[in-house]
Amino acid sequence: MTSVRTRQDWQRQADALSVQGQAFINGRYVDAVDGARFACISPIDGRVLAQVADCGSNDVERAVAAARRSFEAGHWSRAAPVQRKQVLLRLADLVEQHADELALLESLDMGKPVRDARQGDLPGAVRCLRWTAEAVDKVYGEIAPTASDTLGLISREPVGVVAAIVPWNFPLLMACWKIAPALAAGNSLILKPSERSPLSAIRLAALVAEAGIPDGVFNVLPGTGRRAGEPLALHMDVDALAFTGSTAVGRRLLQCAGLSNLKRTWLECGGKSPNLVFADAPDLDKAAEAAATGIFYNQGEVCTAASRLLVQRSIQDAFVTRVLAHARRMQPGHPFDPDAPMGALVDAAHAEHVLAYINRGQAEGARLLLGGKRVEVVAGGSYVQPTVFDEVDAGHAIAREEIFGPVLAVLGFDHEADAQRLANDSSYGLAAGLWTGDLGRAHRVARQLRAGSVWVNQWDGGDMTAPFGGYKQSGIGRDKSLHAFDKYTELKATWIHLGD
Ligand code: NAD
Repeated sequence: MTSVRTRQDWQRQADALSVQGQAFINGRYVDAVDGARFACISPIDGRVLAQVADCGSNDVERAVAAARRSFEAGHWSRAAPVQRKQVLLRLADLVEQHADELALLESLDMGKPVRDARQGDLPGAVRCLRWTAEAVDKVYGEIAPTASDTLGLISREPVGVVAAIVPWNFPLLMACWKIAPALAAGNSLILKPSERSPLSAIRLAALVAEAGIPDGVFNVLPGTGRRAGEPLALHMDVDALAFTGSTAVGRRLLQCAGLSNLKRTWLECGGKSPNLVFADAPDLDKAAEAAATGIFYNQGEVCTAASRLLVQRSIQDAFVTRVLAHARRMQPGHPFDPDAPMGALVDAAHAEHVLAYINRGQAEGARLLLGGKRVEVVAGGSYVQPTVFDEVDAGHAIAREEIFGPVLAVLGFDHEADAQRLANDSSYGLAAGLWTGDLGRAHRVARQLRAGSVWVNQWDGGDMTAPFGGYKQSGIGRDKSLHAFDKYTELKATWIHLGD
């Protein structure tokens, strides 16, 4: 499905792109009511890509009203599941047909290698839409085990108007994890992409309309968290809020739900995922390569980034040497270069944020083994080297806080119990990995790890068949799999008296 493109091919295609920057409300592209716009800047070279509608509370009012009207009208909410399935399958086909363009928008907007967007994000988004569409007419209700004079029906109904607020690291993919189950279940939806990566969501709106989703059922409000996100979170007529982003903002959204209408609030938040390597791991080189790609893929801007490497001390030096060999090969390159292992960080401010953590790591006494600096791949761009620290203490900021950049913290452990204690010594619980050839240990440790996903002898396993989400302050609820429908449906119990 993927064609091999050179950097020049992608550049030509980028030069020919016409980038849409308007909001999408009630089936039409529109400006913000007050005409506000912001400059959307590419971290590849600092170039302005488009002026984008900076939506605020007036636009939120328009979008929520359109979503509510469409929900009440029932053309989508009361359509047979098989009809919604057919439309969503058409949308999946359209996204697939436009995969080059959408991948390019992701790369231009947030700096990831276009190869990764084309081979990872886009096929992932298409699979999510297809899998969820295919599932929706195969999910049945239940009949309660009642006495013979009663029929108890347990059914699922769409929750109503859903707001989805998403981050910039996998803009379209994270959006699809919300859009697919929310729309499949019959809801009307307002998508607020990150102000740092709004372009693919805006482009998607035209494909949604082309697929045949009725006006008002899908709306896109670009804008900042404060101007567009918070009014959605505080709105009395938004029934559910599905969020992916930082734990700090997730915390604020729970407050907004409490201050407004108790909207169902589902959070996919941050992580500081531990990757445990035992001396008996079956293939240490594979483990070392996965330790490097687990933190440096997508410039480390991954919620499940393998940011804490816990290595058994008996192999620590030799293993870290292998990790460094892989890490050295992961230098940032031009995101259109098909061989670039990493691209640019999302923007200059985020690059500064990552560099500040690197300085802090050194100031707190960790040993910098690799990288640690900004590099000028392209003038005006935001590129940071793959960075590795060892002699990290569990109390250091680089061992505790989510950096969301290409920074690996290595910690040693002696025994299995220490490894488990260190791994769980975090307010986060999104993902964890462990490498061992001992089957008993694999199961034992996997059970002890307080994380929503645990990977054994691999990093980042999973597909649409498995739920994804976090323990502890990594979130509430799950994306993907049939469990995702729980977020976007209400359970109704209908109790019918059958007579004597
Ligand atoms: P962020 O929390 O800063 O922003 C996420 C979204 O929330 C953006 O659209 C932003 O505009 C909006 N927002 C910000 N303040 C808001 C407010 N007060 N009210 C309403 N909306 C507001 O996160 P980010 O920097 O975009 O993304 C990085 C974070 O996302 C990391 O913490 C990462 O771990 C997390 N993430 C989690 C998952 C997951 O599935 N658990 C996946 C990807 C990213």
